[in-house]
Amino acid sequence: MTTTYTARWVLPVSAPPIEHGAVVVDGQLIADVGSQAEIVERFPESKVESFGDAIILPGLVNTHTHLELTALRGYLENEERDFFAWLRKLTVARLELLTPDDIRVSATWGACEAVRAGVTCVHDASDSALVSMMALKDVGLRGVIYQESFGPDARLANENFEKLKTKVQELRASETTLVRAGVSPHAPYTVCAPQLEMIADLALSENLPLMMHAAESEAEELFLREGCGVFAEGLARRSIEWKAPGISTIQYLKPHGILDTRPLLAHCIRVDDEDIETLRDYQARVAHCPKSNAKLGHGRAPLAKFLEAGVAVGLGSDSVGSNNTCDILEEARFATLLARAGGSDVSAARILDKVTGELKEGVQADLAVVSLTGVHQLPSYDPIATLIFASSGRDVILTVVAGREVYRDGRVTTVDEAQLRTRMHEISEKLGRG
Ligand SMILES: [Zn+2]
Repeated sequence: MTTTYTARWVLPVSAPPIEHGAVVVDGQLIADVGSQAEIVERFPESKVESFGDAIILPGLVNTHTHLELTALRGYLENEERDFFAWLRKLTVARLELLTPDDIRVSATWGACEAVRAGVTCVHDASDSALVSMMALKDVGLRGVIYQESFGPDARLANENFEKLKTKVQELRASETTLVRAGVSPHAPYTVCAPQLEMIADLALSENLPLMMHAAESEAEELFLREGCGVFAEGLARRSIEWKAPGISTIQYLKPHGILDTRPLLAHCIRVDDEDIETLRDYQARVAHCPKSNAKLGHGRAPLAKFLEAGVAVGLGSDSVGSNNTCDILEEARFATLLARAGGSDVSAARILDKVTGELKEGVQADLAVVSLTGVHQLPSYDPIATLIFASSGRDVILTVVAGREVYRDGRVTTVDEAQLRTRMHEISEKLGRG
């Protein structure tokens, strides 16, 4: 039995918009995309779901999240201008205040927020990767969960690496066709070089995707180029030796094997032209997180330069601890406006291409339906402009992952949101007490 979704607009993304379009879903796959008249003729038996004044588009992809930290939304506002204090408060909350069940609730709530905003796929870095993977499965979201690894002390590199391997093995055992395992050495200032090399080798030999924070802050740049600043001082206090290589993050990752894994690198703000060429040559992918970067005062990544150079770029919300929402449509709007504020011409169509897949026969049926009936969306002369410049995730009315409706009529259909809401209140009360 097939289902035909129709709306005033269908945006296949890899082909021009179709007015009065239709998408046919057969099981987990898209069976056809075309005009309503053609599709009804071709699939006369199909069940039809009409959305009227709306846009059907491929599901949105969030290339950098930390769903387990959803409970930290708004929790770190006072530390935002001090990245070291921000990271420390976050780490204490995660490791000392939140129980494993709190983390699971937090990640599940984050997954609900994602599907409510039309996101169908996340690239999620998690310290509790197995728990985050369960959250994705419960909500029905597609994604890669990257098990994080920390360890700035080379004397502990082997031990930390063994811990990572054990966790990755568990994670792999829980993989499904929708949810895959990956690895994430956290950042150049939290993972020592030998550990980076071991993780890169593991990623290559086990065919594991790798995500890493890279070139995010001034503090990170000072640490690598000059061996000073808060991160170097932090290591010195713990008697951990650090000799700065005197180069940029991207050049530093090269000899340590990270770039050989075609990594997904989050942020990439502090990159020069040579770094951009390196990213392209190694086919590294960038998770551009413009709102998180702006909120933490880290600056602006050169989106237009990445696009010109042919570097693969996606958009990421980062954790809601630094954003404060997981909303890729809003992120796309912000990314476009920010690039233009900097004098670069980035079009709405170009950015849409960076946040979605495509709707065509034979691909996985991941799609979102965005209502066009909002006061803020009328009139609409161009569906792509209305989508990027006048809409947000809050206008999404249906989200489908692999043919399964996971969000519809204002409700996530797969989990008990009321129960999760009660638990989120309890968790925030506890965190508020410190
Ligand atoms: Zn991050």
